Formats: sequence, structure tokens, C-alpha cells
Amino acid sequence: MIEIIYEIWNVVSTAILNLGMLSVLFFLLAFLVKGKEAVTAFRNSFSNSMFNLSIMCFNLILLPMVAFNVDWIYSFDYLSAIWVSVPEILVILVAIFCGDFIGYWRHRLEHTRLLWPSHAMHHSDTHMTWLTLQRFHPFNRLSTMVIDSIFLLSLGFPPYALIASNLVRHYYGYFIHADLPWDYGRWNKIFVSPVMHRWHHAAESAAHNTNFATVFSIFDRVFGTYRVPSLCNVPLGISYNVGGNLIGQLLYPLKFRSYFPQRKNRPTNSVGS
Ligand SMILES: [Zn+2]
Ligand SMILES: [Zn+2]
Repeated sequence: MIEIIYEIWNVVSTAILNLGMLSVLFFLLAFLVKGKEAVTAFRNSFSNSMFNLSIMCFNLILLPMVAFNVDWIYSFDYLSAIWVSVPEILVILVAIFCGDFIGYWRHRLEHTRLLWPSHAMHHSDTHMTWLTLQRFHPFNRLSTMVIDSIFLLSLGFPPYALIASNLVRHYYGYFIHADLPWDYGRWNKIFVSPVMHRWHHAAESAAHNTNFATVFSIFDRVFGTYRVPSLCNVPLGISYNVGGNLIGQLLYPLKFRSYFPQRKNRPTNSVGS
């Protein structure tokens, strides 16, 4: 019992330290870009951020092994012989690219009727900030880990490349959720910007089922889901109730009717249809 408490404390204290550093970094960045407006935005996003912190703590306690224990990956390293002769940096870059390709299709699946009720919590944030990256239902956290790991491991990537790919995509994920009015000009054709992902979270129906990638916008361009009409200053979130408070949203995917919402509420994307 003592060991479990110690393990949870380790996980939570590491997360708090990590979060503290990211808070300072993103607040300074927002202040440099938007001046006093950053303080107003901070106030406006406060209640959503508290929700995000709550679900983050819930996931850390419920799924500590998922969040931080990566030892199990090493039991698959016998598959990685094919990458031995390739320089490590190249293996890492390919793993990031493949990870984003898998993540793109997994994210499209999350917008289908089957997985949308678990993914809706991520989209219910009406004042998106970098911390929205932590706003995931535990079912969504688990499905992400299982789907991404199965495909990346089956490609034989060595553990160091898998871990590097996950870390890069995770921290880049914080950046694209940040409340920054940044796009990349001509580089938009290759990389996902904060503006591009903000459009993914827009409440308006035209924005639904667009901009699924995390790092490489190439996938959205190739598969016809790229949409960045301008800087994103439209309302964010979901236009119908997906459970309200934390408990309600945690229960939302457990309700049968969440999988058969009224026609106007349905996620319109479907992989393969
Ligand atoms: Zn989504
Ligand atoms: Zn997002």
C-alpha cells in the first residue's frame, strides 16, 4: 500500500513540477505576444483551466502507469532489428512522422459515433489554452495509448524512438493548444500551427472534422481535411451538452444515448463513409 501511495506521489509531484514550468513559459509567451490582453484571457479561461487540472489529476491517479511507466515498451525491442543500421536521429524523425500519421487516423476515428462520446470532453473547452491538452476522458487516454502503441510497435521502432516520438508530439501538442494567434505562413503547408488546431476546436459546423494532425499539416492536406480560413476568433467548444461538470462529462460515454444523439448533434465525420 505504501509503495502505491509513493508511486502516485512521485507521478503527481513530477506532473506538478512539469506543469509549473509550462505555466510560466506559456504565460510569458502570451504576455510577450498579447500584452495585458493575456491577463484578461487568463481570467476568462480560469474555470476551464480548473476543469483541465481536475481531469489531469484524476487521470494521473487512475492511470499512473499509462502516464509515466514506459518499461513495458522494452519487452518489444526484439522487433527493432530492422532499424539497427539507421542513424538514431533519422529513426526518431521517421517515428515522429509515422506517429503523427497514426495519430491523424486515430483522431479521425475519435470523431466517429463510436469514439466521439469519449473524445467530446476534449472539445468541451470553450476557452482553449495549452492546458486543454490535459483535458481527456480516461477512455480517450487509454484508446490513444493502445492504438498509437500497437501501430508504432508493429513498425518495429526501437523504444528510444517511440519515447522520443511520444515526447515530441506531446509537448508540441501543448504548443498547438496555446492561445497564440500564430500561423506559419508558407510553412503552414507542412506544420500544424496554434491557429490551425484552434480551428479544430471551433464550435461552428464548418469546422467540424477538419485539422486532425498534431505536428504535420501534410496529412490534413493530403486527405482533404485541412481548413484554415483566417485567424481563429470564433466561439470554441461543442454546441450541445456533453455532461456539464466533471462528473457529468466522465459519465457521458457510459450513457447509451450518447452514442445515438439527436441528428443535429452527431459528429459528421466518419472514417470510410
Ligand atoms: Zn478532435
Ligand atoms: Zn485539441
